[in-house]
Amino acid sequence: MIEKPIFVIQKHNARSLHYDFRLESNEVLISWAIPKGPSTNPAIKHLAIQTEDHSLEYATFEGIIPEGEYGAGAVLIWDRGPYKNLKNQPIETCLKDGIITVWLEGKKLKGGYALIKTDKRNWLFFKMKDQFANSDRDIVIDEPRSVISGKTIEEL
Ligand code: MN
Repeated sequence: MIEKPIFVIQKHNARSLHYDFRLESNEVLISWAIPKGPSTNPAIKHLAIQTEDHSLEYATFEGIIPEGEYGAGAVLIWDRGPYKNLKNQPIETCLKDGIITVWLEGKKLKGGYALIKTDKRNWLFFKMKDQFANSDRDIVIDEPRSVISGKTIEEL
């Protein structure tokens, strides 16, 4: 069992491939869709579009959403683990203020990550500078597999 609260990143091959970043808070998963996925390079800031909150149970979902349903396509648990809110306020307050900083303890992503709101539902997601920052690799290319099943999105 994983300590709480948790974060999860689901690689989702829907109409277009993206990564859903979700943070547990008050029994829901606050969610963003990140078309280019996470990076370990602090110089790379990727668009993250806030989407609907998901139920906490969704953090364990890996499989195929059938044709005709919303988000149809394969969903793979790309990373998951506990996280810590680095601000001294509830995540909901940070969400309203448009600045979220968290410490991730995933299998792939570790250390500080930030989400900064730019406009409406648009945010920027990026690695903070710490000992886990690495500008010499592309983690979504290097580590495509599920942390649960070991499968790639094509193998689901
Ligand atoms: Mn999605």
